[in-house]
Amino acid sequence: MQDVMLDYKRLGYDLSEDDRKQLEGMNKELARLTTDFSRNINEADDVMVFTLKELEGVPEGFLKQKDLLNAYGTYDIRPGVANQYMTVMRTAKLAETRRRLMDARFKQAMDANLPILAKMVQLRFDIARKLGYKTWADYQTEKRMAGDGARVKTFLKDMVSGLEPRFKEDVEHLRQLKVKETGDDAAALHMWDLSYYKNQYIKDEFAIDREEMRRFFPLQPTLEGLFEVYGIVFGLEIQEIENPDPWFDDVSLYVVSDNKTHQPLGLFYLDMFPREGKYNHFAQFTIVPGARLSDEAYQRPTVGLICNFPPPGEESPSLLSFDEVTTLFHEFGHCMHSILTEAKYARFAGTQVPQDFVETPSQVLEYWLTDKNVLDLFAGDWQDRDKKIPQDLIDKLDMAENALIGLDYRAQMAFGLIDMELHNHQNMAYVQRNMVEMTNDIMKEVYFAAPSGSAMIANFGHLAGYDAGYYGYAWADVIAADLAESFRVSPGGFLDKDLGALLRKEIFSKGNSRDVNDSVRAFLGRDYSVVPFLKRIEARKVSE
Ligand SMILES: [Zn+2]
Repeated sequence: MQDVMLDYKRLGYDLSEDDRKQLEGMNKELARLTTDFSRNINEADDVMVFTLKELEGVPEGFLKQKDLLNAYGTYDIRPGVANQYMTVMRTAKLAETRRRLMDARFKQAMDANLPILAKMVQLRFDIARKLGYKTWADYQTEKRMAGDGARVKTFLKDMVSGLEPRFKEDVEHLRQLKVKETGDDAAALHMWDLSYYKNQYIKDEFAIDREEMRRFFPLQPTLEGLFEVYGIVFGLEIQEIENPDPWFDDVSLYVVSDNKTHQPLGLFYLDMFPREGKYNHFAQFTIVPGARLSDEAYQRPTVGLICNFPPPGEESPSLLSFDEVTTLFHEFGHCMHSILTEAKYARFAGTQVPQDFVETPSQVLEYWLTDKNVLDLFAGDWQDRDKKIPQDLIDKLDMAENALIGLDYRAQMAFGLIDMELHNHQNMAYVQRNMVEMTNDIMKEVYFAAPSGSAMIANFGHLAGYDAGYYGYAWADVIAADLAESFRVSPGGFLDKDLGALLRKEIFSKGNSRDVNDSVRAFLGRDYSVVPFLKRIEARKVSE
């Protein structure tokens, strides 16, 4: 009931007739501006011209694709086309080529979008004030785990300083590559050098044959392993039953029951292989949500899991890549979040949790794949099941996944802080005057200086639709790391049944039927902390 009242307040039902009309107009105007802002980014079609010599290092195959070579024998590269931009930034040997291209990318849509953005942040601020909030960030985060803008800012600042040692080392690794390539001991690393040296670094230091790893993950045993792992952790039995109404041959139906009470908890459909017209990613969706119907009856949920695994080969079964296995564990986490619900109302059941928390329960279970004990339950060569995945391969993979992670997260922190600077400020006149300078300063302090005269905010698509929400990615990662760390240090490790039961009870079954902060606290026995996340990435750095 409280939640419904809050929603009414947030929509402006507490306001006078006049104010409500005004609010409606403001919302309409904001929607129009937001659409314009995104469109200007998406439709930017600037072209930069480079000679073949300037594109030294860029793969020949890439340069051969049509529309790149123009009538003058030079090449048209579009900074707004992600694949063209990234390929050149990763591979062009000449720093000046990369600088020019990045400069063009950062200046795209600048003239059109800066005035629009200024109006957007002002309108958001005015709307928040009208509804009784201090800032737009306070309004946006009120129903999220973060709760208010100040808490988000504290989080981002803690992360910036916590990441500092790892960030510095990552930067130095890349700078050393530049020193080696240029012969200049004092070579400085710039933002337009990052993708180029990152690409080299990862290729040279973390060479893993990811295709070759597929042999350890044949589909059927991997699925059985997935069910076994979730079964152990959450105390479940997962059994295939006859599908009364298959929408396609490949779709199978499973029932999930509690392994003590043998009560069924829910059903899920598994749709495994690609086919024409099918959604081409991996996703979990709710078909019937969980909800209490009466004093006696609880409507158990039904969910669907859409996958697109490689079809079996002529002589081999379907073999999954490690990324696909990770995605499977992740999406199945969403399934379990839906199925294990005990929430009274469907609007609070399962995955109906705040946006900055919804990925956390699934991300926690991704950590199981870093543990040899877990992997040994199912990861084995498809031709010789006793041949388990070697520990050093697991370690190498873990290192590769965490390579330059300090750099990546500091970029995220810079974007998060920029988002907050625009949406949690109380002096809008000041923001309007100094928008570009303020945000460029954050880039420089927290990450790298952008090309001079540019304004990354004009191209920051998240400001339209994910406003005051960018922090959410890292927020979810940090909380997942904290929850997973409890398992890592527990007596039973990642397969600890007591801790699994606690995770099910306090996090998975609760959904949004209580504040997720309370759920996290109930599981951890304390407030969440950024420390386990930071410790983990510190432990996964390459030493000289
Ligand atoms: Zn997800």
